[in-house]
Amino acid sequence: MDHIKSSAPVALRPHHGMCFHYYEGKGYDAEFTDQLGMLIEELSRTPARTVRLTASSDAVCENCPNNRSGVCADLLKVARYDKAVLDACGLHFGDTVPYGVFLSLVKERILDAGLRRGICGDCCWDHLCGRSR
Ligand code: SF4
Ligand code: SF4
Repeated sequence: MDHIKSSAPVALRPHHGMCFHYYEGKGYDAEFTDQLGMLIEELSRTPARTVRLTASSDAVCENCPNNRSGVCADLLKVARYDKAVLDACGLHFGDTVPYGVFLSLVKERILDAGLRRGICGDCCWDHLCGRSR
């Protein structure tokens, strides 16, 4: 969690802004799930903290078993999710945004607008996130 202790912007893949809304303590394995929970909790406490939207491995990927030496095993799929989230929010890779602003944009423009399933309906966790919307 060094990225959280530093004052530098926290790297975040844009589609993780959707995943964060649905987090309920489940994930690929115990370490991934615990670290993800801590990251969400920390960022939620500091909504003014800046995130940098990235097309690369981020603070979530750091502990993921699908992270193969810094590259996602499902790169094409997650790159599609990331681009769709940026387009819906009017943002671009490399933009820096306060965490709270980014999460609100994702909620308003994607989740509340009913666009989530059209973006990541083929994700293996869709059955969980799809329970809400
Ligand atoms: S279905 Fe997958 S990509 Fe979509 S919000 Fe849920 S965990 Fe994230
Ligand atoms: S490595 Fe891939 S599957 Fe794992 S958290 Fe990152 S984007 Fe998601």
